Amino acid sequence: MQASLACEAARSKLEHLGLLVARDALDNVLEIVRLEDLSVAEALDRLLGMEAHARHERTVETNMKFAGLPYRRTLEEYDFGAQPGLDREVMDRLSTMRFMAEGVNVIFLGPPGVGKTHLAVGLTLKAIEAGHKAYFTTMSDLVRKYHEAARQDRLGRLLGILARPALLVLDEIGYTQLERPEGSFLFDVIAVRYQRQKPLILTSNKSWGRWGEILPDNIMTAALLDRLLHRSITVNIQGESYRLREHRKLGLIPELDPESEGRNTEKNSVTPKPAKPSH
Ligand code: ADP
Ligand code: MG
Repeated sequence: MQASLACEAARSKLEHLGLLVARDALDNVLEIVRLEDLSVAEALDRLLGMEAHARHERTVETNMKFAGLPYRRTLEEYDFGAQPGLDREVMDRLSTMRFMAEGVNVIFLGPPGVGKTHLAVGLTLKAIEAGHKAYFTTMSDLVRKYHEAARQDRLGRLLGILARPALLVLDEIGYTQLERPEGSFLFDVIAVRYQRQKPLILTSNKSWGRWGEILPDNIMTAALLDRLLHRSITVNIQGESYRLREHRKLGLIPELDPESEGRNTEKNSVTPKPAKPSH
């Protein structure tokens, strides 16, 4: 077959297979083959590499929209120096993303403003970059979604949405006290993900001992924590709010008494280093 006919035939097969990026890049790649004297294997690798790269980018973009993140902050943007109570080694271990493959839950506990959501978002961005589907929701948002779904008789569908993504983030557990049906639904979400060994990232201002205050009864609390903590890493952040610290540095608010720092003193699977006074 003539070279131009073969090229046309290849283009139409690429189109038939839905490899549209490769179809459009074919002429360019053939030109590069001539200029750089590439082997057939190298040329195929270039062509299919372009298609694979474009697909990955599209997946990441779609998954980014689906995730519903409140903002985009990376782990690299987190100032670890500002939070000496946070175990850097644990964060380094988490940022390898092995917890995803192992179905390990990650729980950030600590007072407001210490960067729990920032770190949860940072890990989620990494998961999405790696091609995973993730879904982010706050607890109050989940309660709202629960009631909407219950009204429309679509709780099964909502449970599916929360069960399917490779990673689910439940942010701000602890501000909303749950009624029995809401608590049961949260239990179902956690139980189904536990069964499927799919990880959760959770953030809360409440230490484990106080989760009974969020859920309607002790039996439900115990059953929920049992599933949640079986395969989990808890990261306690005991420091001061980042924004307050910044304001303090600018002299906008008075110095803090070091004795009043580190409100969350509960010991967990990951024990942080004691927080140093920040001045
Ligand atoms: P939390 O969820 O613990 O209440 P956030 O993650 O929402 O706190 O943090 C509040 C704001 O402060 C965010 O804009 C976050 O990016 C920023 N922030 C918090 N801690 C740090 C930090 N150590 N380095 C950089 N930014 C931080
Ligand atoms: Mg938060």
